Amino acid sequence: MKYCSECGQPVEQRIPEGDNRHRYVCVSCDTIHYQNPRIVAGTVPVWEGRILLCRRAIEPRYGYWTLPAGFMENAETTVEAAERETREEALANVQIEGLFSIIDVPHINQVHMFYRATLIDGQFGAGEESLESRLFAVDDIPWDELSFPTVRKTLELFLDDMKTQTYRLHQKDIRRPMAQHG
Ligand code: ZN
Repeated sequence: MKYCSECGQPVEQRIPEGDNRHRYVCVSCDTIHYQNPRIVAGTVPVWEGRILLCRRAIEPRYGYWTLPAGFMENAETTVEAAERETREEALANVQIEGLFSIIDVPHINQVHMFYRATLIDGQFGAGEESLESRLFAVDDIPWDELSFPTVRKTLELFLDDMKTQTYRLHQKDIRRPMAQHG
C-alpha cells in the first residue's frame, strides 16, 4: 500500500497509539488502514459418488485441477460465496450439505472454507475461469495436478470420511506450501 484510499496522500508504516502492530497510516488524514485475512469459500461438489473438479484457466496454477472456490465478496454469506463460486467456475447449482473444512493459511493471510455439496441436477460445465470441469471417481483424483494445498488437504479428508460416510468438520492449519506429493 502506497497511498491513502481516503485522501490520496502517501501512507507510512507505524504502530498507532494503543496498538501493537505496524499499520499503514495516512500522513495527511491519519486514517489507519487495517489489513486482515481474506476468506476463500468453496465446495466439494458430489454427484453419484464422484467429485467435481475444475481445471483452472487463470493464473496462478493455470491448468491445474481445483475445487470450485474463490474470495468471498462483501455482503454475502460464506454459503452464498461457496454457491456462487461453484456456479461461476463449474456452471453447477449445488445444494449445500454442511461445512466440511476450515483451513487457516497464515503465511498468505487467508482462511479457506469448503462446504460439502450435492449437484442439484447433475449439470456442470466450464465457467470463464475454467478450462473444463469433470467428475472424478475416488480412484481417479489427479493428485499430481492439484492446484493448492488446501484443495489437496480437503480432498484427502473428504475421501477418508467417504469410506465411512461419516462427515465431520475438519479444522486445520497449513503454515507453508506443502510438497506436491500424495
Ligand atoms: Zn489520508
